Amino acid sequence: PQKPFQTKLVLLGEAAVGKSSVVLRFVQNDFQENKEPTIGAAFLTQKCRLEDRLIKFEIWDTAGQERFHSLAPMYYRNAQASAVIYDVTKASSFEKAKSWVKELQRQANPNIVIALVGNKIDLLGRTESVEESTAQGEEDDETATATPEAGASSSLRAVPKDEAEAYAKESGLLFFETSAKTGEGVVEVFTEIAKKIPID
Ligand code: GDP
Ligand code: MG
Repeated sequence: PQKPFQTKLVLLGEAAVGKSSVVLRFVQNDFQENKEPTIGAAFLTQKCRLEDRLIKFEIWDTAGQERFHSLAPMYYRNAQASAVIYDVTKASSFEKAKSWVKELQRQANPNIVIALVGNKIDLLGRTESVEESTAQGEEDDETATATPEAGASSSLRAVPKDEAEAYAKESGLLFFETSAKTGEGVVEVFTEIAKKIPID
């Protein structure tokens, strides 16, 4: 049997962007609507099998609150990978993500693999498809196109995808958009990080 290659990964980002939810989706394929805030940090592990290797992620899920900021270096020191998460419906969380990226690029392992992750894209689904469909002409019943399904909440995108993607590219980061709620894109984040981890 193949020996797993251990990889320390740290999750960073503003409080409530969905760090713990993304990990819960990756590790247990589960989602909780009202997840309790993380205190300090949580530790989880998950294996990820690629064609040529088995990676065991040792994941440090940090608390996003400012009062825990001074603890962060303890978690990203010696980390081979980091996922910096923001909420696509909240512009301030993208600014915070950029400041985490800067801090990692200054202070973390120079070879660290960083992924920038825009989470909560499920909140946009309805709105963005409405924008697209109105361009193609009127539907028979205008309320049917403009009103979200009963019980579904929708929000406006606050962080344009092309802007985030361009920033990621110029900063040498992997880039993803995800929904911890539906699971969209979550496995890809970890698989693509795993592919970039140098093993010798
Ligand atoms: P953290 O503070 O970054 O760890 O964020 P949490 O994982 O605790 O999530 C904060 C809140 O956002 C919780 O109520 C989650 O249920 C919710 N949440 C997290 N990810 C998503 C997502 O992809 N979509 C939606 N709609 N809600 C999410
Ligand atoms: Mg958390």
